[in-house]
Amino acid sequence: MSVTETYPIRVELTKESKLSQVDFNDLKFGKILADHMLVAEYEDGVWTDVKIVPYGDLTISPSMSALHYGQAIFEGIKAYKFADGTVSIFRPEKNFERFNLSAQRLEMPAVPEEIFMGGLKKLLSIDSEWVPSVEGAALYIRPFMFATEAALGVHPSISYKFVIITGPVGAYYNKPLRLKVETHYTRAAQGGVGFSKNAGNYALSLYPTRIANDEGFDQLIWTDAKEHKYIEEAGTANLIFRIGDTIITPDGETILHGVTRRSIIELANKWGYKAEQRTVSVQELIDGIKAGEVSEAFAAGTAATLTPISVIGFEGQTYELPPVEGREFSTKVLTYLNDLRYGRVADELGWNTLVGK
Ligand SMILES: *Cc1c(COP(=O)(O)O)cnc(C)c1O
Repeated sequence: MSVTETYPIRVELTKESKLSQVDFNDLKFGKILADHMLVAEYEDGVWTDVKIVPYGDLTISPSMSALHYGQAIFEGIKAYKFADGTVSIFRPEKNFERFNLSAQRLEMPAVPEEIFMGGLKKLLSIDSEWVPSVEGAALYIRPFMFATEAALGVHPSISYKFVIITGPVGAYYNKPLRLKVETHYTRAAQGGVGFSKNAGNYALSLYPTRIANDEGFDQLIWTDAKEHKYIEEAGTANLIFRIGDTIITPDGETILHGVTRRSIIELANKWGYKAEQRTVSVQELIDGIKAGEVSEAFAAGTAATLTPISVIGFEGQTYELPPVEGREFSTKVLTYLNDLRYGRVADELGWNTLVGK
């Protein structure tokens, strides 16, 4: 653990743990939160008052700027428990980097590594019993920051709160996905904020997603803002396809660059698959499906892990993908990632950050 000298962390432990009330075999995503949270304040240009306290309500002003002008960003990370009880966080330094990229784009202050990473490790060492040991389950970690200045008027806030909350979760999607290619609404445009994990990106997705839900789809496949011809990503996960002998994932500044996506492409390269990060048109995908060349398609993200896609809807037609069971690359990736996360294979790539070490 890093020595927290610049930003000492005050710790106040809960008097009433909620742990005994949790059924670890029936975890609904995001409903159960662990005993403690980390909170830090940014005021007058400096980070101060870093503390780990019992999970509980925060007080806010009605004129708090995040509520009105949307300076709010977050991250999603998972921690796993090895059979020997070791707690391991999956590539959190990548989330730390992305968090500060989001902060920069939203004109928010960077969070120091000592507070983000050091605070995260300390929080998990305190709430280590909250990390599930059930296969498929994990401790979901939600770092977030929002503007707290109590003043109306569009300008960068002068104060911010950085918080980390955590909670045990099971699988996010529990069945193969039916995705609809969205050709009217837009998630992100060139020069916009698509690459950042800011709250507004999710608010704008809800209405188009609900329309797709009403049509029998689980989620959208967003396309480019200009022509709606090129595939971007799903609502909270990146998309990866296997077309012919190539693993392909869309790229560009309008997509959120997922740690899961990146890890899967790194694995594909390591294992000798042909892997490409490039523009993918909807037509290429549909033609590929019709020709029987799309053997695998899945959504990749921390919350969703790797979720197979079974059906793609486009312009009123639905296209079926091959059965999930025969998907060689997806199966290999999922097996490897699970073995790595639960400490069953050597961590050759250095992707596990062990808590307390
Ligand atoms: C978080 C997120 C992803 C997945 O990123 P990971 O780092 O793999 O969790 C993909 N798309 C969007 C829009 C996201 O918010």
